Amino acid sequence: MKPAPFEYIAPDSLGGALAAMQQHGFDAKPLAGGQSLVPVMNFRLAQPTVLVDLNNVPELDGIWQAADGSLHFGSMVRQSRLERDPLVAQHHPLLHEAIPHIAHPQIRNRGTFGGSLAHADPAAELPLIVVALNGRIKLQNSTGERWLAARDFYTGLFATDCADEELLLEISLPPLPARTGTAFLEMARRHGDYALAGVAAIVTLDAAGVCTAARLVYLNAGEVPMVAEKAAQMLVGERPSDELMLETAVVASQNEIEPMGDIHATAVYKRHLAKVLTVRALTQAFAKVDS
Ligand code: FAD
Repeated sequence: MKPAPFEYIAPDSLGGALAAMQQHGFDAKPLAGGQSLVPVMNFRLAQPTVLVDLNNVPELDGIWQAADGSLHFGSMVRQSRLERDPLVAQHHPLLHEAIPHIAHPQIRNRGTFGGSLAHADPAAELPLIVVALNGRIKLQNSTGERWLAARDFYTGLFATDCADEELLLEISLPPLPARTGTAFLEMARRHGDYALAGVAAIVTLDAAGVCTAARLVYLNAGEVPMVAEKAAQMLVGERPSDELMLETAVVASQNEIEPMGDIHATAVYKRHLAKVLTVRALTQAFAKVDS
């Protein structure tokens, strides 16, 4: 398949990119790594008349740590760079751990952090991780910028709060509290395939070994990354045990996610996978808390 005809613009500054988005609005699409947009255009599921290539915009690159300890990422940071960056591995092992599950190295070499977030595939790893880590997303148009919580960015299936003339500029991840453990697990038919089910678990223990905070977020379990708040709350104030983790997993997988059946797996099977993965992820996350 070939895409419908389009005009190609390659600005070399953020101002140029924002001006092009402002001028062409609904007709334009930003091009990041092209790993999702180009196939979608080839199938003519998207027919933008203007492509605004972000690959020459230097302001969208970089990983840096702010004074408050949060890590910041330009939206054009490649997924392969996230995989290898020492700051990411040190401060956000959950993100570091999830990246190898995304497709294959060739795709991660081109695919970007911001492109994956903006594409908003409910089966993708990065939206889940950024929601789980209470990340924030910076959007900008030619007149101003705004920050919003990653959880509020996702509004539906492949849908976000990003307006037609806006660009996703930056991602910010706050530091993890002390004595916090994290784990990401997924089940895919073959390595590199989109996952049938996946979960991120984040838990914090006090010095006495009592859980003071917990977070469970699921991929491919609804239209957006699904946060299981009630299940996670069952852990708070308790000492972790196998029984409690199983009860938590049952509540999350039965009551707080809404997986859709498809040609790869029924909804019932996806709920089963979510339950099994939750127990394993919680076990790993609690075991990783530094003493
Ligand atoms: P693009 O394809 O360039 O853009 C995607 C969308 O986001 C487009 O609508 C574009 O207009 C918009 N966009 C891009 N940047 C911005 C911006 N700064 N502001 C506003 N909008 C923007 N992903 C996974 O998560 N897990 C997988 O297992 C997986 N498997 C894959 C397997 C294959 C064979 C392929 C081809 C892709 C796979 N992907 C997978 C998708 C891959 O991770 C993509 O890289 C990612 O979804 C999109 O990132 P991109 O940088 O390529 O964005």
